[in-house]
Amino acid sequence: MMDLGYEATPPPSAGKDWVNFWNFVDRAPPLETESVPRDILVVGAGIAGIAVALALSKELTPFVPDLRINVYERHDILSTSGGAINLTPVAQRHLDRLGVLEELDKLGPESGTDVDAIELFSSRSGRSLGAINFTDEKGNGFGGYKGRRVMRIILSLALLKVVERTKNVNVVFGKKLVRGKETKDKAMLYFQDGTTATGDLVLGCDGVHSNVRTQWVSPESPSEYTGISFVQTMIDSKDVKAPVHFRSTSMNISRHGSLLASYCDRDHTQIFIAAIVQFREELLSHYKIEPGQDWRRTAAIKDALCQEMRDRFGRSGLPAIRDMVNKADDWMLYPVWQVRPGGRWYRNRVILLGDAAHAMPPRDESAAYALDDAILFSRILAKHRYEPLPVAFKAYEDLRRGTVNAAFQVSRRMWEKNRDLGFLEGRFKEWTMPMQVRNAREAREQAWGFDATKVQLPGPGDSSSSLYSSEKEFL
Ligand SMILES: Cc1cc2nc3c(=O)[nH]c(=O)nc-3n(C[C@H](O)[C@H](O)[C@H](O)COP(=O)(O)OP(=O)(O)OC[C@H]3O[C@@H](n4cnc5c(N)ncnc54)[C@H](O)[C@@H]3O)c2cc1C
Repeated sequence: MMDLGYEATPPPSAGKDWVNFWNFVDRAPPLETESVPRDILVVGAGIAGIAVALALSKELTPFVPDLRINVYERHDILSTSGGAINLTPVAQRHLDRLGVLEELDKLGPESGTDVDAIELFSSRSGRSLGAINFTDEKGNGFGGYKGRRVMRIILSLALLKVVERTKNVNVVFGKKLVRGKETKDKAMLYFQDGTTATGDLVLGCDGVHSNVRTQWVSPESPSEYTGISFVQTMIDSKDVKAPVHFRSTSMNISRHGSLLASYCDRDHTQIFIAAIVQFREELLSHYKIEPGQDWRRTAAIKDALCQEMRDRFGRSGLPAIRDMVNKADDWMLYPVWQVRPGGRWYRNRVILLGDAAHAMPPRDESAAYALDDAILFSRILAKHRYEPLPVAFKAYEDLRRGTVNAAFQVSRRMWEKNRDLGFLEGRFKEWTMPMQVRNAREAREQAWGFDATKVQLPGPGDSSSSLYSSEKEFL
């Protein structure tokens, strides 16, 4: 489902013969080209890191034929942890622009399930409390895109498939960044294995606990625990004997937290279950499962989480939830961390993107913010390619800061609702939820039309700065 709408922005060569392409591209005088970054170093191969590498390849290749983008990832191989992620219509649109949906769809039933709506239920009574719809009244997605829930590892595989066919992007695994430094002309990365890398520009896409942020750009902005954790697991659908009350995804709300239950593959053979619950910070270390840990300790942690989930949701008024929670046994705890708004995002040759800059409590939209960052930053850098990097950094921050701060505040307010509540507070939450969902509908649906590839960039000359439409030529 490659969206041809993005053809709207013509490449500089549009209508011209590809053989003579380089004669037509918008080239600056040699003196000015000195500032165009050629060696770009990305730290972290998550959604933001891979997306920005792909987006920069599209935007800069026509101007920098010898462009090299290296992505450094601390893991030796792709991480299998993290369960399933929900992609909003915005996230899907942006992944499509980058060629990732095409690869995802090739992965067969594992490529995820379409999500028409997240249906909301009272876990206590089973009553429907409304729905967050990813389709309009006619059942069509926004701009052609619905939601999708997919295992994180599968999404990462699709991202890497696109990297494989992008000639100037390379991912290096087993490279944990410990610190970085910049000189007048270059930036240097220092890895745990004693090696280093040097480049013109560094993009810190290393997630909420970012070393690029804490050891370099903004040491005064540590991550902080939100007080809420996900406790999640998977279960085979065939093991759930009670009738399932949702089409693809449900959020089952109680005064002891909310339980997300969602299919995550096209054939609906697997259900991803995630409880979003209040969890005290001092308890986190007791529930941490680490490689090489004594098996008895691991088993004790899993038993304790199992019991905790049964206490919270095992007597739900929804038979399928009771069934799932009482059968599931392989729960894992994922604490949710955030980075408070207001911290510094860049220095002279380094900038933070995605969760490294603005991790917020997830509300199914954070991946979309990481993708927005990647596409907007790449477009802005291409536009200011002959100017010193801080000019592009500032233009990006000016465009992005307000949106991200506002999203953080909304996320914070939403997360407060997952804290444990007293009896009356719990009932009040149930009564008011349908109205709140209805009231927020218009704003939500407006947000799902957002397209980072089409947003008008401030300043002159925007109309020709984006080169996505020429993507096929550069892959
Ligand atoms: C429990 C949970 C559930 C969520 N569910 C959703 C959801 O359903 N929908 C949604 O849109 N968002 C969701 N989010 C948020 C979403 O996962 C993040 O916003 C998104 O992954 C951010 O992408 P990123 O690339 O910035 O960071 P990450 O995905 O964290 O990627 C960072 C990468 O950097 C690597 N790295 C870290 N440190 C170093 C280092 N020192 N050196 C080298 N590499 C390093 C990491 O290994 C990782 O590969 C959820 C978050 C949590 C915690």
